[in-house]
Amino acid sequence: MDIITYSLREGQAKSDRYYQDIAAFADEVLGEAERRSRPHVEAFQAYLAGNCHEIARTLAEHEFEFLTLGVLWRVYGGRAMGLAQGPRRTLASLARLRQQVRVLKPVIDWLRGVLSTLFLGIDRHLRWSERPALLHFDRLLGWLEATGDFEEEVTRLAPWRDFLKTVPDDASTILANAVELATWFERGSEAALGRYTVNVEDFLTRVHPNYHWREDNIFCGRQRVEYHLNMVGTEILNRAFRETFLASARKLVVVPPCMRAKPADKCLAKITSFGARCAGCTPGCRVHQLTKLGEKYGFGVAILPDDLRVFSIKSTGLNTSGGSIGIVGVSCALTNAPGGWKTRRMGIPAQGVLLDYCGCSWHWHEEGIPTDINFNQLLDVLGIQKKAARPAPDEASMEPVSALNRSLDDANKIDAASGLPAASDGDQMSIVRSCAGYCDGLSVGVTSMTCDC
Ligand code: SF4
Repeated sequence: MDIITYSLREGQAKSDRYYQDIAAFADEVLGEAERRSRPHVEAFQAYLAGNCHEIARTLAEHEFEFLTLGVLWRVYGGRAMGLAQGPRRTLASLARLRQQVRVLKPVIDWLRGVLSTLFLGIDRHLRWSERPALLHFDRLLGWLEATGDFEEEVTRLAPWRDFLKTVPDDASTILANAVELATWFERGSEAALGRYTVNVEDFLTRVHPNYHWREDNIFCGRQRVEYHLNMVGTEILNRAFRETFLASARKLVVVPPCMRAKPADKCLAKITSFGARCAGCTPGCRVHQLTKLGEKYGFGVAILPDDLRVFSIKSTGLNTSGGSIGIVGVSCALTNAPGGWKTRRMGIPAQGVLLDYCGCSWHWHEEGIPTDINFNQLLDVLGIQKKAARPAPDEASMEPVSALNRSLDDANKIDAASGLPAASDGDQMSIVRSCAGYCDGLSVGVTSMTCDC
């Protein structure tokens, strides 16, 4: 198998060791962050409480933000100083327009590819990033916003900028502490997680130069330390959101299209407003196997919809009619932690699971490589004890996932009026009854699972 940038398997059949390593390293990071930044983080938390910016977050979440500030400062500080106001405003406007007017996306992406190659890579003030000052914070946020790739990071860091403006005498010291923490993190993460990202350097040297003029040239040019940052971020945010997630009445695993065995024009998944639902055309397809696992353990599976807001309480109305939906977001290492921030912002109880490696045809591979996850890790995240699997997938035991599908399908009826096809319980149950002969595929990911067929 081609390893393009990162691999959680590191030459092994499974990624079990990665999950031990990331748990241990996240403990280390939180200990170091507490030692270096706790007074700043507590002052920031108090500032937020007094200014009603948002719902209260844990100290660990704010410590991860503080670390993110330092890492991004070290990686992009110099480029931020090299970006003039004109191109910054134009690129930021195009990034917003891209989100709002989907039909213009191809044209905007082409234009953004040209402009970002011309303006976002200029690094004229490298040493500035070592001497942080509050007056430069807006430049960094402006550069991040102009890329269009750091929406959640900007949303999390803007309140820090506002807070630092209330303590101007201490701002430089606090920023210097963030950079020092990031310096420690870069060394520490290389030792703890470097084995999973060895190919990133090679990709950046040999392949990434071909990304000139492409809209995703910043996204695909991310540094090794950013992979490590996001890996740790997923672990920290999972811990912070776990209780709320486990309390949610229904669970839905949302997977990216790159996990399908077949390309989009051959995959038979049925499109719904809540993401496409697998039709089971290929026994070896990991999305199909995951769907079967969901039927066994009582969670739903959907292929990522265009907009995560469909899962918010406002869209589903499920918090009053039977509990909220807890989402497990599956995505690559660079996007999962920001996805956690996004779902938190939307009030969706969520957890993240990383793809074991990346391979989508949008960013990384011409034809696309079907991606995969660690099924055992997914079950752990879902709070499922594997021994507690139901003895047989009969109709009664399907109630949790059927209830979820009914809820989603009820909501889909609204969209049926506008022409969007909706799946039905009949589709779901027919898949359950047809369960026969796919157990080998399932046991690839879940060795302790027994066959029910
Ligand atoms: S098994 Fe499901 S997800 Fe995989 S290609 Fe077929 S319909 Fe698509």
